Amino acid sequence: MRRRTLLTHSMAALGGSALIGTGGAASTTMTQAGEGTRTTETLLAGTKYATDVVTIDAPNDGPTAVVGGGMHGDEPSGYRAASDVASWKFDAGKLVVLPEANRPAIERGTRHNDSGDLNRKFPTGREAETKLARAIWQLIENTNPDVVLDLHSSKGVYRTHESAVGQAIFPTVVDPAPTYAQTAIETANDTVVPWYMPYHRYERGNLLDGSSPLLVHKVAGDLDLPGYIVESTKFILDPPTAARWTSLVAETLLAKHGIPRRDGRVEITAGDGSR
Ligand SMILES: [Zn+2]
Repeated sequence: MRRRTLLTHSMAALGGSALIGTGGAASTTMTQAGEGTRTTETLLAGTKYATDVVTIDAPNDGPTAVVGGGMHGDEPSGYRAASDVASWKFDAGKLVVLPEANRPAIERGTRHNDSGDLNRKFPTGREAETKLARAIWQLIENTNPDVVLDLHSSKGVYRTHESAVGQAIFPTVVDPAPTYAQTAIETANDTVVPWYMPYHRYERGNLLDGSSPLLVHKVAGDLDLPGYIVESTKFILDPPTAARWTSLVAETLLAKHGIPRRDGRVEITAGDGSR
């Protein structure tokens, strides 16, 4: 049922393209020549964690990105934005998108699943700590990406509400992530955050370096790759709007890394540092 929904979604996004192969573990939607391919597979199929992985191969060669959402089940803007990304077309590169990383938590609408906080199961230098965390890490290692994005929602406003991170982008210490984060922050603040919402301007969070057991920390610590946590707030912001802002940030970061969305909303020239 879940699969059917996603396939319909993919087909709609691709606009009447032919569907080839609906059986088995993977289904591939192929577009016309020069359009690339989109494949949906299932991570941890047959388990309570089963969740879709969408692979988009753009028509031109380029870098590879992993984009995740739904690590926390009560953060709708993160998993909605990741679903957006999974529906986009790209001109170059490859994307592996995990829109709903933590299905049991999303189904319950809670931050945690039965094993606690999924985004605290990724210690640097050691194996990920749960079955789901290990599967996600394996997916990243198998993909061998150039960049990793993890899309979340936050509460409150940065530096205003105690213990809230507000709207912020947290890059890894690995170049060019800090610079590209700044570009994405400026792009979002200039294009989608209204002038009359100054407390909703995106800020740059601390650099992620492997010192904490978060997925993107591990991306820095174990893989030495650029990566980002993107947090859009729930504070006086409805989930669809927060998702739209989050997906704009994702689009900007991907474009900077040489994976430009076709007919996207931002015009970005990939920097020299894209890898
Ligand atoms: Zn989160």
